[in-house]
Formats: sequence, structure tokens, C-alpha cells
Amino acid sequence: MSAGAAPAPKGFAPGDNRVVSKKTGSITPTSPCPCGLPASYAGCCGAFHTGASSAPTAERLMRSRYSAFAVGDVPYLLRTWHSSTRPAVLDLDDGVRWTGLEILATSGGTAFHQEGTVEFRAHCRVGGREDSQHELSRFVREGGRWVYVDGV
Ligand SMILES: [Zn+2]
Repeated sequence: MSAGAAPAPKGFAPGDNRVVSKKTGSITPTSPCPCGLPASYAGCCGAFHTGASSAPTAERLMRSRYSAFAVGDVPYLLRTWHSSTRPAVLDLDDGVRWTGLEILATSGGTAFHQEGTVEFRAHCRVGGREDSQHELSRFVREGGRWVYVDGV
């Protein structure tokens, strides 16, 4: 008995042969939109990410930013960030996989408003463990378009 069994890879339960991609960007235009609305990615947040259209409400902007985190669209995240609070660079954590978004509450943020808030809970998996982030985000219009200001 000099050669023992190879240790099981970490993070996989015995018998679990599913392959989980760690890559973001596995979402295709026909995938269900990561933001949770009943639409394809291309027909929902994807249209905002490509610049074909812009989010009409603060909630849709929030959803599209969540989707941008899910697909790894850093340029979209930066251009939908208010110029006064936008970070110079943004590094997304490859170890975080976004798994769902819940919108808990909104105020303002419609076509008739100049500012609004969105309270949400974003679910993710970090190293195989369930986690979530809760935030109350503030949005304003900048140049007519909804942008993210900050969150608490
Ligand atoms: Zn969407």
C-alpha cells in the first residue's frame, strides 16, 4: 500500500462530475438574461451593453450593470458610472460567479425623474460558497442617461 488513492479535487463532492466553468462570458445572445427579466440577453441588457439603446429607468440600468458584472463587461460598468465617482480602473474578480438578482425596492428613477434609488440583493458563488451582496444604490441622469453614483 505505497500508492494511496489520489486526493479528490477540492470543491467537488464525490460523484459530482459536473463541469463548472469559472469563466465569465459564457453567456450568449440567446441565453436568458442574467438580470432575471424573462428575456434573452440580446433582447434585454445586451442591447444596453452594445450601446444599441440605453436603460430607460434606474432599475433597468441597475439590472444591466448587474448583467455587466455577470458577463464581465467592464467598459459598460465604467461608462454607466457617474463621472464624479467612477473608478479609474475596475478589476472584476474572476472567482465570483453571479447567480441571481433580486430588486427589493425602487424610488424615483423613471422617465419622469432625474434621480432614483434601487435596493437590491445580488447573489453569487465565491469558491463554491453561496454569498450575496445587499446594496442601496443611487442613480442620477448625466447627459440625459442614467448612471450609477454610489451605494450603501
Ligand atoms: Zn437583463
